[in-house]
Amino acid sequence: MKAVLIESHEIAPLVRHFVFETPDVDQLRFKPGQFVSFTETLGGKKIIRPYSIASLPDGNRFELCLNLVPEGIFSPYLFSLEPGASVEMGAPLGFFVVRNPDREALFIATGTGIAPFRAMTPDYLRNPQAKLLTLLFGVRYENSIYYRDDFDALARRHPSFRFWPTLSRSDSSWTGRTGHVQTHLLEAIGDRRDLDVYICGLKAMVDDVRSILKAMGFDRKQIIFEKYD
Ligand SMILES: Cc1cc2nc3c(=O)[nH]c(=O)nc-3n(C[C@H](O)[C@H](O)[C@H](O)COP(=O)(O)OP(=O)(O)OC[C@H]3O[C@@H](n4cnc5c(N)ncnc54)[C@H](O)[C@@H]3O)c2cc1C
Repeated sequence: MKAVLIESHEIAPLVRHFVFETPDVDQLRFKPGQFVSFTETLGGKKIIRPYSIASLPDGNRFELCLNLVPEGIFSPYLFSLEPGASVEMGAPLGFFVVRNPDREALFIATGTGIAPFRAMTPDYLRNPQAKLLTLLFGVRYENSIYYRDDFDALARRHPSFRFWPTLSRSDSSWTGRTGHVQTHLLEAIGDRRDLDVYICGLKAMVDDVRSILKAMGFDRKQIIFEKYD
């Protein structure tokens, strides 16, 4: 099917939020956390790239959150698109979805790894049985805490939701958490082992967090992850 770009805007340096629609269908059906794959012929080669959907199901509209990989192929192409342009797209897919909605959860993201959690967090909190949910979000600078207002608003409405941004390159004006997400695992988890942990971002962070969790005694099945590279 075709995805038509409605609008895009910068949400942090080198990061854009995109809004698309799929005019071929009335409803784009997907589970929060899934991704779509875009295909385009660029430089004479067919290129396919998956992108996590950063919005809840909403008719045929969906949103993405992308960072520019300057030496990359597909992200510079998407950044160059004007509203009205279309991209070939496959149906939503993927297993990075909430497995146990009634169980306590820790969501961990770095950078644009926040994208699926922008859909999974409000979805998880819609469940009246929802337990404690912590979202640990690692970025370098304060101006890169994308969707901060959305997550702060959710935290105000849901006392069982904790939004914990952490900055790896904070300046002296920042009074929140600092360092990498790995630094805050113990604080988020404590002695508990009866929660599921969802991790999304680049391989180095995902692999590192997984090995820490395994050393803490978490079972493989409790660690659900999506690697972007
Ligand atoms: C399931 C899945 C979901 C994804 N969802 C998103 C998303 O929501 N937002 C998003 O920005 N990307 C996402 N990606 C990554 C995306 O598919 C592309 O790999 C990315 O846009 C780079 O493509 P490119 O053609 O520009 O660069 P390429 O030429 O493919 O890659 C250049 C280099 O960039 C690295 N890279 C890949 N992704 C990133 C990234 N996000 N940040 C920094 N470096 C990266 C790769 O390791 C590679 O070495 C997802 C990947 C997967 C597997």
